[in-house]
Order: sequence, then C-alpha cells, then structure tokens
Amino acid sequence: MIKKDVVIIGAGASGMMCAIESGKRGRSVLVIDHADKIGKKIRISGGGSCNFTNINTHSTNFISNNPHFCKSALSRFAPRDFISLLEKHGVKYEERDPGQLFCQGSAEEIIRMLEKESNNAAVEIILNCHIMDVKKEDSFIISTDHGIFESESLVIATGALSYPQIGASGMGHNIAKQFGLKVTELKPALVPFIFSRTDSLIFSELSGISIDGTIKCNKMEFRGSILFTHRGLSGPAILQISSYWKDGDTIVIDLLPGIDILGIFIERQLNKSKIDMHNLLSEFLPSRLSKIWCASNIQSKPVNQYNEKERKTIANQLHNWEIKPNTTEDFKTAEATLGGIDTKELSSKTMEAKSVKGLYFTGEVIDVTGQLGGYNLHWAWASGFVAGQYA
Ligand SMILES: Cc1cc2nc3c(=O)[nH]c(=O)nc-3n(C[C@H](O)[C@H](O)[C@H](O)COP(=O)(O)OP(=O)(O)OC[C@H]3O[C@@H](n4cnc5c(N)ncnc54)[C@H](O)[C@@H]3O)c2cc1C
Repeated sequence: MIKKDVVIIGAGASGMMCAIESGKRGRSVLVIDHADKIGKKIRISGGGSCNFTNINTHSTNFISNNPHFCKSALSRFAPRDFISLLEKHGVKYEERDPGQLFCQGSAEEIIRMLEKESNNAAVEIILNCHIMDVKKEDSFIISTDHGIFESESLVIATGALSYPQIGASGMGHNIAKQFGLKVTELKPALVPFIFSRTDSLIFSELSGISIDGTIKCNKMEFRGSILFTHRGLSGPAILQISSYWKDGDTIVIDLLPGIDILGIFIERQLNKSKIDMHNLLSEFLPSRLSKIWCASNIQSKPVNQYNEKERKTIANQLHNWEIKPNTTEDFKTAEATLGGIDTKELSSKTMEAKSVKGLYFTGEVIDVTGQLGGYNLHWAWASGFVAGQYA
C-alpha cells in the first residue's frame, strides 16, 4: 500500500490545477487517470487552441441549481490569475470574440505548462491507471490495477459525461452516490439540436449553410452563428441556447437580427417592385435558405402583391421563426454536461463534501455548467485552485 497525503482521480483541467496547488503547500500528491495522456479535453478544446478563460467571467455565466455556489471560487481565482500563470510560462494568447481568450499557438502549450508546474510541485502522475474500488476507513483506500493507494484526502476530478470517446465517465457521480451524496439530473449541454421528422425532411438540404441569427428560449437570448446540419442545428448560438432548452420547448430564431425587413417590404411596395419574396429575402439570407423558408412558411409571390397584414405577418415570422427540436444530440457531441454533484452537498469555499471529511470534488463533475466562451475551463481552474488550498 502506497501512502499519499492526497490522491486526485482525473488528470484534466481541474485535477491538475488542484494537484499543483496542493503540492505547492508541501502535500504529497498523486494524480491517477485511466487515459494515456493528461488533459485530453484541454487538447481538443477551442478547436485545438483552447479558449482557456473569459475575462468577463461572472456567476451569471453558469447554470446550477444554486447560482451562488460558484461565486466564492470565482472570486478567489479570477481570469487574471490564470493569465498570470500563462505569462509566467511565456504562453502567448489573444482575445477572439469579446472576452474569450485563446492560445495563439496550440492548447498543447497549456498542457506543457501544467506538466511543468506539477513537476515543480513534486506531483506524481500515473496514467493508464484503472480504478477498481474506492472506500473510506480511517483514510481513503483506492484500489487500482497499479496497486493500492491510501490517502488522507481524495479529490474527484473525473469530469462528467461529455465526450466519452476521449475518456469521460460517470465515475465521479458514482463515487458521490456511493458516499451518499446527491447527484442532480445529468443532461448534455452545449450540444446541437436534432430536427423533428417533418422539419428534417424540409431543412436537411440546407446542411452546411450558416447564418448570423438571434435565438431565444426560456428567457435567454444569444446572437451568433447558426449552422444547419444534416440532422438539425448547430453553431455557437445554438450550443448556447441548448443548455437552457428543455424537452418539448420551442426555440425562436430571428433570421434577420437588426434588419428592419418590414421597412424594406414597404419601400419595395412603394417602388412597385415585382421581385418575388424569396428573391428579395436572398438579398439578406443564403438563397437556398430563403427559397426553402418561403416554401415552408409563406406563399412566395411578387412583393407588391402582399397586403399590409401579410407583410407584417411575414416580417414577424422572419424575426420570430419557431422551431420545435425533437431532441438534442447526445453526450458524444456535447461540450459539457448539465447537472452533477448537488452543490448542497459541498462547501463552496473548499469543494469538500459536507458529510465526508477529506472528500473533494472539482470541475465539471459538480452541478456547475458554464456557457460557451471559456467559462467551463475557468470553472475547472477555479474549483481546482480552491480545493488545492485545503485538500
Ligand atoms: C470538444 C470540446 C471542446 C471544449 N472547448 C472548451 C473551450 O474552448 N473552453 C472551455 O472553457 N471549455 C471547453 N470545453 C469544456 C471543458 O473542456 C471542460 O469543461 C473541462 O475540461 C472540465 O474539466 P474537468 O477537470 O472537470 O474534467 P476533464 O478535463 O474532463 O478531466 C477529467 C479527467 O478524468 C479522467 N477520468 C474520467 N473518468 C475516469 C475514470 N473512471 N478513471 C480514471 N480517470 C478518469 C479523464 O480521463 C480526464 O483526464 C470543451 C469540451 C469539449 C468536449
């Protein structure tokens, strides 16, 4: 039996951050992971250049049954703190969309930085390590195919269910349940929608078309790129709203945000324009979309032949196009998981389970899910950082 002060299960973003901080305090730390490399999700994040934080990070960018839970960790490890770490290691970064920071090079540089920091903090890492059993006697006993480890503190940093193809598993939730902690409902988040059968027949030929739109559902609204796929809708605005969508909800898309299309109809009417509606709309939308949208929503005819009521109805439909998705895609394509360890079970200051001394949870395994834009990784860094001060 090998004894350590701290065993961390999961060498992802939050586990590595926790290991570094705990190691810096002089604790003997072992990180174990069933994957063959550390930080596999970091490596593929942000399309390979890792949107590692967002300088506008605020608790309102997170979804949780308790929206206040994340506040303490976010205030103690702010985007500036992660940026300082990058600057110390000479990792170059840039702001892309407002607030979203990406590596100028590749996500690999962040992984190398975490490796260096963990080496400096004398953290030991065992990869390809499969956990067979976890139990608590006086201390935690972790049985693996690399031997049995005993530790005073156990940190569960196994992430959640999204992207099982690179090692995501439900182990963290199962360990929580084993120790009697509640886990809230788990659902794919930041995930594409799948059309209903009828919409699929109509819109699947638009696959590959992308527009700038605004999308609304359950009092949330996002503007950005909307991509038609062969199965449904994707793109940043869709991924954002998917985290707020519930089964049976309708989403409302403004196909022409910021464009006074009714004013344009009236102007063309005054000019006695005989252009067909779908041709007119092709001036603002991809022509294939305009054609199919008109065919499925209105009767396309020359613009000067619509009466005032019809013009208003069409303008309203274009700004409020209603779609009822059948469902979302599953965890294989979801960038995050909604739900997780019930925050009522944890201290927001330390991430330690209130009912099990020495048992900590960090990152995505907790019921805290960020919006798209660097928030999920920031939550991983921040929750790992605070747990590392106590574990
Ligand atoms: C394609 C994609 C792109 C993304 N891009 C971004 C982005 O640009 N910005 C952003 O903020 N967020 C992004 N995210 C989300 C972000 O990567 C995660 O929220 C974050 O990595 C979670 O950190 P974590 O430490 O909780 O878990 P993870 O980073 O997932 O780490 C969990 C670790 O635990 C290990 N593990 C799991 N189960 C077991 C087990 N049974 N035994 C042993 N080890 C186990 C895994 O191998 C893994 O190494 C993206 C996610 C995906 C899928």
